Amino acid sequence: MFDLTGKIALVTGASRGIGQGIALCLAKQGADVAVNYHSSADQAQEVVKKIEDLGQKSIAVRADVSKSDQVKAMVEKTVQEFGRLDILVNNAGVLNYKTLDQMTEEDWDWVIDTNLKGQFLCVKAAAPLMEKNGWGRIINIASVASGGVGVGYPALAHYCASKGGVVALTEGLAVELGVKGITVNAIAPGAVETDMAKGVTEDEQVKQGLLARLPIKRIGQPEDIGAAAVFLASDEASYLTGSVIYVDGGWLAA
Ligand code: NAP
Repeated sequence: MFDLTGKIALVTGASRGIGQGIALCLAKQGADVAVNYHSSADQAQEVVKKIEDLGQKSIAVRADVSKSDQVKAMVEKTVQEFGRLDILVNNAGVLNYKTLDQMTEEDWDWVIDTNLKGQFLCVKAAAPLMEKNGWGRIINIASVASGGVGVGYPALAHYCASKGGVVALTEGLAVELGVKGITVNAIAPGAVETDMAKGVTEDEQVKQGLLARLPIKRIGQPEDIGAAAVFLASDEASYLTGSVIYVDGGWLAA
């Protein structure tokens, strides 16, 4: 089950955090993985080494996902190296905490361009390659902050808007690409222990408040998201498209 032997994956923002966890989980199932990074070159090389230690091929590819020329070059380099592209995980993301009165146009553009436009640009570059093979898996990382579930998050309006956009993008692309053999799904993580979530995991009061609410009494780990990505990337998930899987320890159900 969930054998990814022979598959080529590209994971954006895989130098750290959830992206690293996803890259390693895909490699454990037999995929070769291109590790995209933006500024953490050394950490990306460490991820490459870990993937090679698992017996899979890997390269690190620098690109800012919000820039179309860099995204095209990243996808070209992946195909040059591995000959094809089967699985795209759109994971790269950013946030900063700003209330409406603090939030500048630059803050808004940075978050929307990285989290939402970045996913569009990566799909635009990757989908034609998958279409050629009649098989593809696109996995977009959303969030419990994607909206529509009755929970709002203060000082994160731009982030929430970007992640709501990711869900809508996922549904729109799923309808378009299914007939070409490509599935498009989203994973919406809850609180996962990474640099991005330090505001939650390193503030003991906030952390205990969250743990009190979570039915699964722990903070998520990158591998929890990686496990869902493995399933969505597999042949076994061929009847699933346009879906959002909430991997949140039961946060939204509580
Ligand atoms: P993180 O630890 O801050 O890591 C972010 C990753 O994104 C890094 O690898 C970073 O690369 C990359 N990145 C940032 N800007 C980029 C750009 N312009 N181009 C390419 N890569 C870029 O964050 P994380 O917690 O792992 O988050 C990963 C994804 O999960 C994000 O989409 C986030 O919104 C989502 N998410 C996280 C949580 C959570 O609790 N952690 C919850 C819900 C959703 P460099 O270091 O190389 O710059």
